[in-house]
Amino acid sequence: MTHGETFSALILRETDDGGYTPAFEQLDVTDLQEGDVLVAVEYSSLNYKDGLAVTGKGKIARRLPLIPGIDLAGTVLESSSAEFSPGDPVLLTGYGVGEKHCGGYAQRARVWSEWLVPMPQGLDSRRAMAIGTAGFTAMLCVMALEEGGVSPDRGPVLVTGAAGGVGTIAVSLLAGLGYEVVAVTGRPETHDFLSDLGATRFVDRETMSAPARPLESQLWAGAVDAVGSTTLARVLAETSRDGTVAACGLAGGIDLPTTVMPFILRGVRLQGIDSVQTPMSRRREAWARLARDLSLEKLDQLTGEVPLSAIVEQAGNILAGRVRGRTVVNVNR
Ligand code: NDP
Repeated sequence: MTHGETFSALILRETDDGGYTPAFEQLDVTDLQEGDVLVAVEYSSLNYKDGLAVTGKGKIARRLPLIPGIDLAGTVLESSSAEFSPGDPVLLTGYGVGEKHCGGYAQRARVWSEWLVPMPQGLDSRRAMAIGTAGFTAMLCVMALEEGGVSPDRGPVLVTGAAGGVGTIAVSLLAGLGYEVVAVTGRPETHDFLSDLGATRFVDRETMSAPARPLESQLWAGAVDAVGSTTLARVLAETSRDGTVAACGLAGGIDLPTTVMPFILRGVRLQGIDSVQTPMSRRREAWARLARDLSLEKLDQLTGEVPLSAIVEQAGNILAGRVRGRTVVNVNR
């Protein structure tokens, strides 16, 4: 694209009252920030954090104006980096893209080559975005459980926020790796869907978020928690000796009202997961694992698609807990 040609974008613009509002505009590539690679974006995705950014309900946008969208995948158009050439398929998650650097809710993105992951064998831009930050985070959680010594023969694993983006991919991955997966959801209507992805049993959200004693019966060899707060506290109290819990989310709250008892009496390990600043070597490892271990059939089952024009409405829906699985954003539709 030469200068003067425009592209469609969702952009957050400052309002007179110091807040901001989303607007659909035609922009020029000169409106983009610095970077050594220009990408023709094909797909982005919808994550909880995008919901917070677009609605303004969370302090995600750290510059204005800003094109939100923490994920993007597409094809390199221009590159002054030796690492990437025009025509290369690439993906990007995290690094503050969609927060302090213009992101994926546009047909063009100018970014730094250090942030780009070459498209893994077996994936395309749509499926990479069906995975997106949520699926990448689910993979990091699974790797954390493995590194903690959790294996299918140690007993069932629990996934909280199971019908959401991180949850559905965690359920699919863990079931595919041979684990018995127990899903926590507040939406009974998603049971059949989650069973198809590999969940074998369910615990309802209300039961799991009820305050726990310091130690409860040992039920789980490990857990992936996207919820936090009293739910994570209960997960820890119910985790078996030497189990590992990967904590990645705050859909239920940022607090953690727990005690040290699971740690000092059962050797339970709590592993935090940060997908934004994951080093590149681990990123590539996680994406290679996703391309190998995640069933594409299951991935397609849990993916919905919306055009860029629907993103403001969808942003409200994900915060309200009304989005099931993953949503890709087709920026050319
Ligand atoms: P989704 O909205 O898709 O999924 C969240 C799920 O949590 C919902 O589907 C719902 O599952 C459950 N949930 C929602 N509200 C509540 C509540 N009040 N109490 C208990 N459960 C609730 O979001 P994502 O999967 O994209 O993200 C999940 C979490 O992980 C978010 O907090 C997000 O910010 C965080 N995250 C963190 C990352 C990191 O790097 N650490 C990266 C990616 C995400 P159900 O309907 O099944 O009950």
